[in-house]
Amino acid sequence: MPQSSTVLEADQVDGACRASAVYDRADLHVHLNGAMPLAAIQEVLVDEATALPEGFRVERDLIRRKPAPSLSAYLKPWQVLRLLPRRRDNLDRLTSATFAEFAQNGVRLVELRSSVLYLTSLQKCTPAEAMHALIESTGEAARRHEIKRGLVLTVTRGPDSCRDLSTLLEAYRDLGQPTDIVGIDLAGDEETSYPADLPTLFREAKDQFGLGVTIHAGETGRAENIRAAVEQFGADRIGHGSAAGKDSQLMDFLASKDVCVEVCPISNRLTGALHADDPHPLIEFQGRGTPFVICSDNPGLHHRGLADDHAEAAAEGLAPSALDRQYELAKRYSFMKGLE
Ligand SMILES: [Zn+2]
Repeated sequence: MPQSSTVLEADQVDGACRASAVYDRADLHVHLNGAMPLAAIQEVLVDEATALPEGFRVERDLIRRKPAPSLSAYLKPWQVLRLLPRRRDNLDRLTSATFAEFAQNGVRLVELRSSVLYLTSLQKCTPAEAMHALIESTGEAARRHEIKRGLVLTVTRGPDSCRDLSTLLEAYRDLGQPTDIVGIDLAGDEETSYPADLPTLFREAKDQFGLGVTIHAGETGRAENIRAAVEQFGADRIGHGSAAGKDSQLMDFLASKDVCVEVCPISNRLTGALHADDPHPLIEFQGRGTPFVICSDNPGLHHRGLADDHAEAAAEGLAPSALDRQYELAKRYSFMKGLE
């Protein structure tokens, strides 16, 4: 389907303005757990009789509509999101609802992130079985909606980062290095330290398996984390990278290395990474020629979709011509091979 000029249709759902899709979009930074629609989560919570943490109220605490006081407050929904699904049919129910939402937003290409390992204890299976289930479940949902999808394996910053990445890579090898897995990702609070060997492990995985590397950096953390992501981890893309917006040398460095920033306009406001009065750094990226793609991060939690992120990017000052080029740009910087 050819790209057309930006046309959005808005409708009111639960008081939130949601934009419907009318042209092709691609999302290179979206977390499965953060993309699952609230209604599907509620169904699974009931079906599996999940005990919620004390004081947690689903309607209040699983949706983030206003800026959070901190990144950790923004991440509160994970207190419940890590408790499901315990059954394979409910994994299918959640992925099916998630891809239906992608389709509703005109998403034709998606790189979906998951830490995978949380499923091993929930579904009482090995890491390889969890990875296989995720490949199968998302693959089937993607086929139904004619969406090209790749999976990105996420590890979280912390003392277990190396062990978790090694476990994931072992499962990936055990499954015969499926082409469904296209990249690896480091996420989590940038103030949390990680083992000194972690950057080497990322670079080795990239060299050995040809996996793409993306690192959450400069989201709420310092600009130095962005440079370290490229120089130490071998990052091909940067998640968020907002801190680069105030550092012209860093923006030029990213452009010279052809490293693409995954810009998540709605998330950046809701995590508190950007103050309400701050201009969005995408304006600086646009002006300096730093490559970037518009992504949604956690659209389920925001009760929005990628179409809304595109509308938000336009409201932040992204030129309509730049918005029209987004799909082609995403294909260029995607970790998926053989895209037409
Ligand atoms: Zn993210």
